[in-house]
Amino acid sequence: MPDFAAPVSRLIDELKRLPGIGQKTAQRLAFHLMRVDGEEALALAEAIRGARESVHACPVCGNLTDVDPCLYCGGPGRNRKTICVVEEATNILSIEKTRQYGGLYHVLGGALSPLGGIGPEKLNIKSLLERLKSGIVEEVIIATNPTVEGEATAMYLSKLLKPLGVRVTRIATGVPVGSELEYADEVTMLKAMEGRREL
Ligand SMILES: [Zn+2]
Repeated sequence: MPDFAAPVSRLIDELKRLPGIGQKTAQRLAFHLMRVDGEEALALAEAIRGARESVHACPVCGNLTDVDPCLYCGGPGRNRKTICVVEEATNILSIEKTRQYGGLYHVLGGALSPLGGIGPEKLNIKSLLERLKSGIVEEVIIATNPTVEGEATAMYLSKLLKPLGVRVTRIATGVPVGSELEYADEVTMLKAMEGRREL
């Protein structure tokens, strides 16, 4: 006999697929959703559907957006001479929170990982090269995570971009090594951006 009613088991299985959610948390969330007001539970389902249907990668920078181009690429007040390269769209929020960076972004969609089978062709690199062709961009700030993969990606990009005559910098490791930028607080992130060095 199954432990839970089949639909609840299915819900638990779906929740478990989410990052950071194990069996116990999935069960707690599932039972919570069964307990709350029906509309509240369905609002979550609707939010997932709505976000999935309207949000896509910005054709210019790869950021998640519901308008084309995204609010950074299309923003009138942004400094178009600087592009900050990040692994994931969520990293943009960490940098925006500092309120000091007013340039553009480029989302790679991950980091190089030879062991994980992620080579340069799997990352959003070609479109970055395209963006540099106009000659407007003067500096590319590489803000990949301070992990082995993030550092390897930074080195790879530096070798690729420097011959194009653009200044390539790497954020300082004010962010603890091995950690992810997503969890860096504003002050740490600000220091990392300010302390960036030439690659
Ligand atoms: Zn964009």
